Amino acid sequence: SELWQNVPLAPPDSIFKLTAAYKADTYAKKVNLGVGAYRDDDNKPWVLPVVKKAEQIILNTPALDHEYLPITGLPEFTTAAANLILGSDSRAISETRVTSVQTISGTGANHLGALFLSRFYPWSGNKEIYLSDPTWANHQAIFKNVGITPVNYPYYDPKTIGLDFDGFLSSLKSAPAGSVFLLHACAHNPTGVDPTREQWSTIADAILEKGHYAFFDCAYQGFASGDLDNDAWAIRFFVDKGVNMLVCQSFAKNAGLYGERVGALHIISTSKEAAERVRSQLSVLQRSEISNPPTYGARIVTLILNDPALFDEWKRDIQTMAGRIINMRKQLFKLLTEELHTPGNWDHIVNQIGMFSFTGITPEQSKILTEKYHIYLTANGRISMCGLNSSTIGYFAESLDKVVR
Ligand code: PMP
Repeated sequence: SELWQNVPLAPPDSIFKLTAAYKADTYAKKVNLGVGAYRDDDNKPWVLPVVKKAEQIILNTPALDHEYLPITGLPEFTTAAANLILGSDSRAISETRVTSVQTISGTGANHLGALFLSRFYPWSGNKEIYLSDPTWANHQAIFKNVGITPVNYPYYDPKTIGLDFDGFLSSLKSAPAGSVFLLHACAHNPTGVDPTREQWSTIADAILEKGHYAFFDCAYQGFASGDLDNDAWAIRFFVDKGVNMLVCQSFAKNAGLYGERVGALHIISTSKEAAERVRSQLSVLQRSEISNPPTYGARIVTLILNDPALFDEWKRDIQTMAGRIINMRKQLFKLLTEELHTPGNWDHIVNQIGMFSFTGITPEQSKILTEKYHIYLTANGRISMCGLNSSTIGYFAESLDKVVR
């Protein structure tokens, strides 16, 4: 008999399936709004000019070898990455209470954080993590993989196409003390809906009151608003408030280093001694998983973060990307409301933030967009703003208009 006969055939990943269907489509005006990576106005991947400069520097540094990095990664990288996300004036950093480990991009940070919690978090009952409904689909799989059961907390309200703040808050209040909540630091994926600063403050109070743990996932720092500090606001606020927390950091989007897998996990402890114990165990876990993280992308980011001129240039590149996306939001909003007079309220298109927008259309309408108009998007009505550009936005607005009428 066949050895693998009991292995069930898994369905293909829905996003990668969408891309394959788009590629196979021969229609000239086809549009891919499923893509989770930045595209320039010509629908091309964009290598950041600052990244090209850093690569040139690496190429011209003959002393660089291909030795292994330390288990926890390139120290100059993890230090600079912590400063970037927690703020260089962070008390947690000056008090050496932060354990930073280089990871396989944001996914690896989520995994290592999840694995660490699974082993060492003082669970009082079931191992559970509260995830926003909806969330990045991979969160479910990542936590299940390490034996932590995902449970949902209300987040998105289809009626307002905005935040279900009351639902979120009552979930924080009713969850058993010491529960673990995953929070998207900015540019929530897939909805593009973020809490306001006032709401974050209320969330932090509720978390402190119940002794919950905050598992921050930050995949879009700078990419959301165009400003690195602004997008890290919630994280820094929570650290200041003394919330028990960790942060998953990715350089995939903000540095356009998707395939290089550059990221970090930062666990904030209450003492230097605790941070050292945490570091020792993260090293043990990392050793058995990947031995040590990859060098190339970390070198690029280290150069950019530690050289003031390159850092300034990076900030301009980030503004180029975020600016184009924000501009697409404005244009789409204008086309729908002023030119096409599309029925319904479209304020959410400009109010939402980051790479993705929840249009609020139904799965049926989304299906028609794909089947009739060759516009590829996920069934939940999420569109990647990066798929829109000067040549596709008009066609998309007209098609959306027809579908919702
Ligand atoms: N978290 C969220 C919410 C994301 O959207 C992503 C990217 N799609 C990631 C984490 C991780 O991405 P990466 O592993 O490429 O850094």
